[in-house]
Amino acid sequence: MIRILDITKAWYSRNTNAKKRNMAHNNNNLMGKITALCKRRGFIFPGSEIYGGLAGTWDYGPLGVLFKNNIKKEWWRSIVELREDVVGIDAAILMNPKVWEASGHVEAFADPLIECKICHERFRQDAKEDISEHEKMHEGKDEKKPEWTEPRQFNLLVKAFLGVVEEEKRTVYLRGEITQGVYANFRNVLDSTQMKIPFGIAQIGKAFRNEITPGNFTFRSREFEQMELQFFIKPEEKESEQWYDYWKEERLKWYADLGMKKENLRFRDHEPSEKAHYARFATDVEYLTPAWGWKEFEGIHHRGEWDLKRHSEFSGKDLSYYDEESGKRFIPWVIETSGGVDRTALFFLIDAYFEDAMGSEQRVVLRFHPKLAPIKVGVFPLLANKPKLVEKARSIYNALKPNFVCAWDDRGNIGKRYYSQDEIGTPWCVTVDFETLENGTVTVRDRDTAQQERIRVDGLKNYFEDKLR
Ligand code: ATP
Repeated sequence: MIRILDITKAWYSRNTNAKKRNMAHNNNNLMGKITALCKRRGFIFPGSEIYGGLAGTWDYGPLGVLFKNNIKKEWWRSIVELREDVVGIDAAILMNPKVWEASGHVEAFADPLIECKICHERFRQDAKEDISEHEKMHEGKDEKKPEWTEPRQFNLLVKAFLGVVEEEKRTVYLRGEITQGVYANFRNVLDSTQMKIPFGIAQIGKAFRNEITPGNFTFRSREFEQMELQFFIKPEEKESEQWYDYWKEERLKWYADLGMKKENLRFRDHEPSEKAHYARFATDVEYLTPAWGWKEFEGIHHRGEWDLKRHSEFSGKDLSYYDEESGKRFIPWVIETSGGVDRTALFFLIDAYFEDAMGSEQRVVLRFHPKLAPIKVGVFPLLANKPKLVEKARSIYNALKPNFVCAWDDRGNIGKRYYSQDEIGTPWCVTVDFETLENGTVTVRDRDTAQQERIRVDGLKNYFEDKLR
């Protein structure tokens, strides 16, 4: 079930920029509106909905898949394609179970869980809000506050069974994070490329966790995607701290460059008690959500030599690195940036959602960065019952389509079509009118300003390419 929480007064007082936010962000049911829009316009659907759903799973619809792919494409471009010191891999989801013993997940990938003694519902011990909501529910219904069991560790790895003979099936795990596929391939990458430390291996892919309390829309799902970089460096304190700071800044800049508002972003360093035992430093990139306060959507970790050392011990393979410059052999240290694609998509959506007054009309607009917008250009004939306009508009649509993701719309009146594209974040709409037939120009309407300018049809490709650059 989608849990929709109201914006709290506390959040308003904490958010010094609240006054600057537009009316949409003052609305106390913003998340309800966003989840409804996602369903209505084909961004995100509840998983297996026609069978009553499956908690913690979500399906991306026709617009959602374009949007999510754009996020991954931009990440891959900035982390892999535009750099000389990072290569990418795509490891299998299913791995030898020993990987998860080496990584510590079999033993310690667990959340402490408490159980309500009245109804036996379970919660993460740190889900304070959910627990207090649950207590209030019982106080209202049973007139008593529930007692809770002592916390028990609950392993988050999802098991699967491989093999054709029932009795001989082998237990494997659906990966709980994509990270381990990189370490398992460290030697392969070193041997098959000319990468020299410092260098990174990047990956995007699905991960699975048996989350106790999935919820808050896609925020906590049982199947989700991660985009991660493992950056291998020399085992030197000072240099490693510099790389850690470097990647923190790079990652924050990436979100801001793609339009996420800076005032909604912050780092939160891990408390000593929450830091993984091998992590030297760890910080979360957090976003200020309207309904749930500050929430993590990327972790940046200084993991030291722990992972490669463990995999070396468990596999019996040498995962050390020989540094030609110094003539020294060592196990590299790792700085990791681990982002969630689904949380990033959700926070870009929240950040982009606005309700504007356009003259006497209200509109909903997703002010996505054009690079993230699922559709770049909408193309319309001014009137659908004028064959010459339709024919010309079709020819423009067909000419633009190989270069930009375009939408065709000839329903209803032109104003409705603009609003329909605004609601899904299309940055530009091209309208073919009678002047087009006379002088070869069209109107291009800008989503954010609603201003229109006349552009020559033969200049449209360059015009949009420039804008996207
Ligand atoms: P949380 O504390 O919220 O459970 P985490 O610290 O366990 O998250 P990491 O293991 O650091 O998360 O994973 C890196 C990123 O993967 C997270 O920042 C998040 O964006 C994403 N992620 C992790 N778990 C989930 C989930 N259940 N649903 C969606 N995304 C997730």
